[in-house]
Amino acid sequence: MYLESEDGGVSILVVGSVALDTVETPFARVEETLGGAASYFATSASLYSQVNLVAIIGSDFPREHIDFWHRRPVNLAGLRIEEGRTFRWAARYHMDMNSRDTLDTQLGVYAGFHPIIPEDYRSSQLLFLANIQPELQMEVLEQLPRVHLSVLDTMELWIMTARSQLTEVIKRVDVLLMSEEEVRQYTNRSSIVSGVRQLLDMGLKYVVVKQGSYGALLFGADGTFFSAASYPLEEVIDPTGAGDAFAGGFLGYLSTIEPKQDGHYSVDEIKRGVVHGNIIGSYVCEDFSIGRLRTLTMDDVAKRYRSLVECSHFDPDWCPR
Ligand code: AMP
Repeated sequence: MYLESEDGGVSILVVGSVALDTVETPFARVEETLGGAASYFATSASLYSQVNLVAIIGSDFPREHIDFWHRRPVNLAGLRIEEGRTFRWAARYHMDMNSRDTLDTQLGVYAGFHPIIPEDYRSSQLLFLANIQPELQMEVLEQLPRVHLSVLDTMELWIMTARSQLTEVIKRVDVLLMSEEEVRQYTNRSSIVSGVRQLLDMGLKYVVVKQGSYGALLFGADGTFFSAASYPLEEVIDPTGAGDAFAGGFLGYLSTIEPKQDGHYSVDEIKRGVVHGNIIGSYVCEDFSIGRLRTLTMDDVAKRYRSLVECSHFDPDWCPR
């Protein structure tokens, strides 16, 4: 079964998991809360533009989450509801919340899922292949050959269990988001710079290396290097979904920008996108699930943008006497 479609203009297509997460930090625990890479992304990016969601949920998925997305510019025409269990994931964070253990992954209805892109999603110009089996990411790419910018995210599980399929997807996209650890796992190199070089040689335009609470590094095939500071959060409640929220800020920002005539974005716009990614990623850590994103406004984003400009800027005119 599919839900009804909604009208929309500029849009971002996302395929990925919609899940029920159980998350434990050293200070608190939540059970079966709304999670999934596509959920974090859709909620974040819908702050900027319409998001076309492609995912699957089981018949046990709470209706309140669908009602929430109905109140946002999130198109649910590609959200399949099937008899069975929704994807479930459980994890435990350590005192250093940059590190976590996955305790359980149950694919549920994702096990037999094949994404179908509805007709009115096919004009989407921005694509986010959120964390999901690489062969499903490839199925989406094949149905959308002409997007302006395609962005890929992945995780250790697929690097270890579906490496060759993941490699085929990497060769077909423009931007790859990976954590520092994932770059090492995939490239087998200890130097991030050298690992990123190997990735760029596969045909990517950009690689963004996510460094958790330390920010993000942008590397371009054209030699671009940009280091984006993270917003210094006093308290992290739950970092789950920060990577997907980063992608939501990144593509959300780009969806508000007219690309150049050739359909590409300038390096300066890509850099601004990375800063938006860091900002949305920082907000999501302030609560469990998508809690903080529910009330987040563009004014909140602008406030953090200003403070990041201030803390990243230093005098360019120094020189040795
Ligand atoms: P992040 O913290 O950005 O890595 O994203 C965490 C989200 O990814 C959680 O809400 C999970 O439900 C979801 N997730 C975890 N493992 C998987 C997986 N194997 N495939 C798809 N989504 C997953």
